[in-house]
Amino acid sequence: MPHDGIIYLDHAATSWPKPPEVLEAIAYALGPAGGNPNRSAHRLALAAARLMLESRSTVASFFGVPDARDLLFVPGCTFGLNMALKGLLEPGDRAVVSSVEHNAVVRPLAVLEKAGVEVVRIPTDRSGRIDLDAAEALVAARPTKAVVCQHASNVTGAIQPIGDLADIAHDHGAILVVDGAQAAGHLKVDVTALGADVYVASGHKGLLGPQGIGVVYLAPVIEVRELVQGGSGGDSGSLTMPAARPDRYEAGTPPVPAIAGLGAAVEVLSREIDALVVQEQRLVQRLVAGLAAIDGVRVLGPAPGEERAPVASIVHASVEPDRLAYELDSRYGIAVRAGLHCAPAAHAAAGTLETGAVRFSIGRGVTEADVDLALEAVREVCSK
Ligand code: PMP
Repeated sequence: MPHDGIIYLDHAATSWPKPPEVLEAIAYALGPAGGNPNRSAHRLALAAARLMLESRSTVASFFGVPDARDLLFVPGCTFGLNMALKGLLEPGDRAVVSSVEHNAVVRPLAVLEKAGVEVVRIPTDRSGRIDLDAAEALVAARPTKAVVCQHASNVTGAIQPIGDLADIAHDHGAILVVDGAQAAGHLKVDVTALGADVYVASGHKGLLGPQGIGVVYLAPVIEVRELVQGGSGGDSGSLTMPAARPDRYEAGTPPVPAIAGLGAAVEVLSREIDALVVQEQRLVQRLVAGLAAIDGVRVLGPAPGEERAPVASIVHASVEPDRLAYELDSRYGIAVRAGLHCAPAAHAAAGTLETGAVRFSIGRGVTEADVDLALEAVREVCSK
């Protein structure tokens, strides 16, 4: 149902509204637990430290991480991906990466490429899925340090075969780094079962938390250099960061309100995830089938009925994406996103680099009525 008169179909940008538990947890973190965790020893600081511990353990078990210390809090998915890529790859190393990545992967890799890292790209089919045979051939061709791939596309919704890619990477001694920004909270993700060595996610998208927080799972045997050095609350006499996780990777005062909000959000999700995945899949398939049936509309990515994350982007033969998004917002109160979605590579693969597309994305709280209203609105705007 519409919230505040808005039909919110922009969950891939950020989820909204947040569960009330998230707002309560943030208020608690700013009030009775408002100290600086792992620094001072008074009750406010201890309460903050407890909140962090609880959040870390909630999020770790949600992702199937056996030891919560391998689950790191970072300022966001972009930061986490930068940390993983720049902390793993050195000049002379080789990375094999999908050709449909978000700029959060593309841009740090471009910097690394300039510095002497070899970057080779795995082709995809038109629906946006990587070609596994090509991936295997590329990884086998030369010693490869890392294979980098998104779990799901923020443009096409294509879900990548991460388990198979993990096998390929590991068979050839490479580390698999996964960008889980669009999968976490929308698909069931068990990082250990998937075989990901590094799995990075945003806190504010499908995980339903606030902005300003992301998570990185780092498999116990994986050695990544930390990106930032600073205070860690202990061992202050040393010039280097403590070796122990998570401290090594969490320099500076942590964003406790965001961490507490994320913990509360993931508690809600842990209860709801099974039903939510089923509901979101049902709604996205309804949306895709409805959009594909509108004259002049092309849905990017997997065909109707095929598996996808709860994202559907479209182009229309005559209505420009910006205009469609504007009309949906101004006339119908429907929030979607037009443009290139920070992922020109995915648009290039879909043939929409010149035009961009309009993206509809589903999340917690979206109903069948919302989807039907959106379909009716697209029909009306596109028939003019
Ligand atoms: N990867 C993908 C696939 C994304 O969709 C996004 C967010 N649009 C990111 C990475 C970066 O996430 P954040 O902006 O939360 O850092």
